[in-house]
Amino acid sequence: MTTDGAGAEELKFRDPEVAEELADDIAARMERIGEPIEIMHVCGSHEQVIAKFGLRSMLPDDLSVTMGPGCPVCVTNMPEVDEAVALAEDGKTVATYGDMFRVPGTVKSLADAKSEGAPVEVVYSASEAVDLAEETDGDVVFFATGFETTAAPTAAVLQADPPENFYVLSAHKYVPPAMEVVAEMPDTDVDAFLAAGHAATITGYGLFEEFVEEYDLPVVVGGFEPVDVLYGVRAILEFVEAGESGLENAYPRGVSRAGNEAAMGAIDEVFERTTGEWRGIADIPDANFVLSEEYAAHSARRQFDVEPVDGAGDPLTEDCICGDIMAGTASPEGCELFGEECTPSNPVGACMVSDEGTCKIAHEYGGQPDL
Ligand code: SF4
Repeated sequence: MTTDGAGAEELKFRDPEVAEELADDIAARMERIGEPIEIMHVCGSHEQVIAKFGLRSMLPDDLSVTMGPGCPVCVTNMPEVDEAVALAEDGKTVATYGDMFRVPGTVKSLADAKSEGAPVEVVYSASEAVDLAEETDGDVVFFATGFETTAAPTAAVLQADPPENFYVLSAHKYVPPAMEVVAEMPDTDVDAFLAAGHAATITGYGLFEEFVEEYDLPVVVGGFEPVDVLYGVRAILEFVEAGESGLENAYPRGVSRAGNEAAMGAIDEVFERTTGEWRGIADIPDANFVLSEEYAAHSARRQFDVEPVDGAGDPLTEDCICGDIMAGTASPEGCELFGEECTPSNPVGACMVSDEGTCKIAHEYGGQPDL
């Protein structure tokens, strides 16, 4: 039988023997370091692979690997959801990614608004939202969420001269400033960061050089297979053991120092960065992408008056500790609603909605972040 070799690369990065060797090396290094270490990753995809493959069970008890603000859906602020709901209730067709559909706003989600008759469509890409605008004379608003990886395609469709009735309500966010805020929070005690490989394919790993210098912490850019994650953790411990900060690209098959310069160029042209709140975490300087002046004609915020949502929110939502979880100071288990009032089929907070949300991942795989 002949095969084309497809899948071989993936299997290589799931090799149990290699994983065991890395785990043994990690354990030996922790023994020598002799004190608890906390590593924060900032990516739902990392959390998925850690939970799905049971990687925490391979690590020593005194080594914590926690998820920080790495779920773009989860950090989308309630007022941003409220803006999208208000636009839909005003008759604009609001197109958004599937995992934003059920995220609760102050009063309701886009799914609630749709069930009440508002025009809301789920799309798989920014260009699909443009297609919707081309098929209608009505206004179409793309509720654009995500980090650099999805900000780039949003920028690309705006650069490609979309129809006049296409607008963007940007809730895109930029991760590096959030890492700085988390590193400075008094309640967090992060010794190192495992940075997200896919975002770094856009930004490049060179972007973290300044962060490493300023915060004197190791940063390793990691991939998304089990061996990638264990290798990344081992690389971090090498820095810790040597008593050094430093930067390593542990995902060279996907990430370069400069990243995707064309994509970053598009982002820089289409967006400006402003201060804005990340849901439940903090106001983060320069971490929210809004459309630049040049693209004001396609900015939903500039072209429409978005009235604030009127009414009290769900009291259960007020008990949601999603923000603390994303800041790395709490775990899903610490939420009294986890698995009871709050489940994937009936989510109270954003962390239980998205496949990249810590609570949903913990609910699905039963693994809790190490705290
Ligand atoms: Fe929020 Fe639900 Fe997670 Fe609790 S379990 S923190 S309510 S998302």
